[in-house]
Amino acid sequence: MITVLSGGTGTPKLLQGLKEVINPKDLNIIVNTLENNYFSGVYVSADIDTVLYTMADMINDELWYGVKNDTFITHERLEELGCPELLRIGDIDRATKIQKTQLMEKYGLNKACEIQAKNMGISSRIIPMSEENSDIKIITDVGELEFHDFLIKHQSEPEVLDLKFSNVSPTEGIVDIIKNSDVVIIGPSNPITSILPILSLDGVRDALKETHVIAVSPIIGSDSVSGPASKFMKALGIDVSSVGVASMYEDFLDTMIIDIQDSDKKTEINQIVNKVIITNTIMNNLKAKKNLAKIIIDSIP
Ligand code: GDP
Repeated sequence: MITVLSGGTGTPKLLQGLKEVINPKDLNIIVNTLENNYFSGVYVSADIDTVLYTMADMINDELWYGVKNDTFITHERLEELGCPELLRIGDIDRATKIQKTQLMEKYGLNKACEIQAKNMGISSRIIPMSEENSDIKIITDVGELEFHDFLIKHQSEPEVLDLKFSNVSPTEGIVDIIKNSDVVIIGPSNPITSILPILSLDGVRDALKETHVIAVSPIIGSDSVSGPASKFMKALGIDVSSVGVASMYEDFLDTMIIDIQDSDKKTEINQIVNKVIITNTIMNNLKAKKNLAKIIIDSIP
């Protein structure tokens, strides 16, 4: 069994490659829930929905959010009614969210995801990291902001001074899933707001020490491929580089995969982790995604 820890952009790109090179039945995907919240009366679990749509071949992979070719009739009508939405939710996407909200209120988030994955014909297990809501605050030079306000209203522009999130309990069974996996892949997701919340769950770091762990760096050179990861790393005093990412995973990491542009960092990273693989990690087409997935699978001892 292969377990992947995922956020909602970098790792889903890798999942598109992984599902072509291994049987999706052999895949558990533990997904970040840090930013989950209610918007427009529905529960929005953005990273989970991105992973669901990715595995069901429905994802809008220009935005890595929502469904490809979705319509926005409800969103536009709400605006006409004087009730504009912070999030631009498409009509098909909204149906998923309405169903998830109803299922979640009846059975909890984990079961809701299991039912939705089955309905979408997905054979991988998609598991929310927690069934509890997190409270995340971004402390910036323009004040304390909610995550989506920082990301959408402020377009990730303010300087980030600090970041705080509450501890939540892991979804039942996650620690055993990690312990019983042949390998855990930490995808190239935001190390602070997507991966750290999963690593902060009770028992997860210890479970990872008992498993073979391979991580792909989301940082190339001194910046992230996309999104505000570098701002968050800087605010927490972590070096914005593949070295900084490796240092965050030092206590359990077995293999670090870095981009060819970072070849000069191999010696430094080798002081943190025994095995370093240098390859193209920019996944801008299916071939690149499959190549990276294959390199990861071939590196499993
Ligand atoms: P979010 O939930 O949208 O923040 O998404 P994630 O946490 O999954 O991913 C964001 C991270 O993915 C960013 O830090 C990017 O640097 C990284 N990323 C996006 N595309 C790529 C890629 O093609 N290659 C690599 N190595 N990293 C990527």
